[in-house]
Amino acid sequence: MDAKTLLEKLQKENAELRWQLEEANDAIEAIRTGQVDALILKSESGSQLYTLKSADQTYRVFIEKMKEGAVTLDKEGLILYSNSGFASMVDLPLSGVIGTSFHNFVDTENSTFFNSLFEESWNSENKAEIYLINNKKKKIPTLLSLTVIETNDGKALSVIITDLTRQKETEKQLKFKNEELLLAQSSLENLNNELEYRVHERTMELSLSREHFKFLADNLPVIVYTAKPEGNIDYLNKKWYVYTGMTVKESMEQQWQKILHPDDYDDVLKSWEHSVKTGCDFNIECRFLRASDGIWRWHTSTALPFKNNKGKITAWFGICIDIEDQKLALNQKDEFISMASHELKTPVTIIKAFSHVLNLALDKNKNPKAVDYLNRMDKQINKLNDLITDLLDASKVNEGMVIFEKKIFDFKELVIEIIHEVNIISETHKIELKLSKTCKIFGDRNRLGQVINNLISNAIKYSPDANSIIVSTDIKDDFLQFCVQDFGIGIPAEQHSKLFNRFFRASEVKSNTFPGLGLGLYISNEIVKRHSGSLAFESEKGKGSKFCMKLPVYKGE
Ligand code: ADP
Repeated sequence: MDAKTLLEKLQKENAELRWQLEEANDAIEAIRTGQVDALILKSESGSQLYTLKSADQTYRVFIEKMKEGAVTLDKEGLILYSNSGFASMVDLPLSGVIGTSFHNFVDTENSTFFNSLFEESWNSENKAEIYLINNKKKKIPTLLSLTVIETNDGKALSVIITDLTRQKETEKQLKFKNEELLLAQSSLENLNNELEYRVHERTMELSLSREHFKFLADNLPVIVYTAKPEGNIDYLNKKWYVYTGMTVKESMEQQWQKILHPDDYDDVLKSWEHSVKTGCDFNIECRFLRASDGIWRWHTSTALPFKNNKGKITAWFGICIDIEDQKLALNQKDEFISMASHELKTPVTIIKAFSHVLNLALDKNKNPKAVDYLNRMDKQINKLNDLITDLLDASKVNEGMVIFEKKIFDFKELVIEIIHEVNIISETHKIELKLSKTCKIFGDRNRLGQVINNLISNAIKYSPDANSIIVSTDIKDDFLQFCVQDFGIGIPAEQHSKLFNRFFRASEVKSNTFPGLGLGLYISNEIVKRHSGSLAFESEKGKGSKFCMKLPVYKGE
């Protein structure tokens, strides 16, 4: 045989061997993954059938497919068998695992513990958490379950290895969330602050995974929901289902009329549609029917749009908080305030009358000190009287009990009258008047005078370091606009939305001992609304504020 023929023969044999090797590998893979349960092998003595027990096959597939690692060890801890799960856990090919010692994969800090575990496990089943170390020297937290099995060659130790990396991570997250939950619960006491806080918390949490979000949401004592950008609710937490008794199907079909009070239904729908259309925050109070006792309870429902980095709304996140108890408490407080101010009014009026009588009866020349004391007392009685009047007014406005005595009057005259009174009391500020355009108004002169007084008094009170305010009028689109501008402490932007709320006082004011009850603007706003007008303001912290009242121009004679 010449060299060329020999080379060709060897190449042919080599190709044949390569093919056989590939076939053998395929067969092993097929057996490993359970694609075959019988093999016909050709030998010199003819074809022979090798079958695999069906139970073994299910087992192999199961072991091969499972996420956990599975190995069998001999008495020395050598790995006799390993599934792919374990190999990928330690970041090695199967050939790098089988035949090596399992001890190699145990973190050195755990090796003494593992040695005794390994010894014990030949006598009894064992489970223990242990750190393994992978090929890249990374520590992997695992749970080992060790069981002795009988094989044809004697005893072997079967070890199932569960990777706990994710579980440990989840536990960490869980702890983190529990702490947040505690925080959220403690802040429930102050409803307004709490709302802001929760929305903030929710927004933060929603950036975490949906799974974690659900876990947290299901454990919150309030109803939590999410909606698609176009407004359809697509998730409600456990509390919702427990409270309303609705099924998932009913809820996902948006069958709100079943649990939303008929009187609130239209408002909620309108407000929700408006928010979805404009992207504005959703905020409404409404009654939901409680399944457990069939009682309607007031809730405050708030939702915020979640926007992607391009500013597009991708979802809505909302919460509903049961405020029935707060409402009841508020009603009781209102009743108390109304009763207390009524009760206070009479004695204060009597004291005022007596102080007047005393003033008349005093010999002013003989008793100059007593006159001075009496005047000071009178001023304090007036202040007290104003406070009680505000409290009474606020109660009346709240109950819709204010009666307006409307007539036609000249607005400019009223403004000048009030400024005259204010000038007598306050000498600290110069009032600059710009009353170019004014008109007649049809309304309650006294009540509108109260609004003007409130706006001017506030402008003076909240600008202690300035010495002037500007009062102006104008007419636009059949509306008279009356504005009071100051250069005082201003109002932080985040508190603007609450300014017309009853008893609301900006944080700066509270900490700086400006006197007041936080009722003036609430009463003023209600009075203006009842005159088909509106009250608005612009304000910047540290720069000043401008409050403007709009009233319809009287068009008659
Ligand atoms: P009060 O002055 O009695 O507190 P108001 O209802 O008149 O009650 O005002 C409510 C709150 O609005 C005030 O406590 C203050 O925080 C803020 N405020 C009103 N007017 C002004 C103003 N001109 N400048 C700054 N803050 C103001």
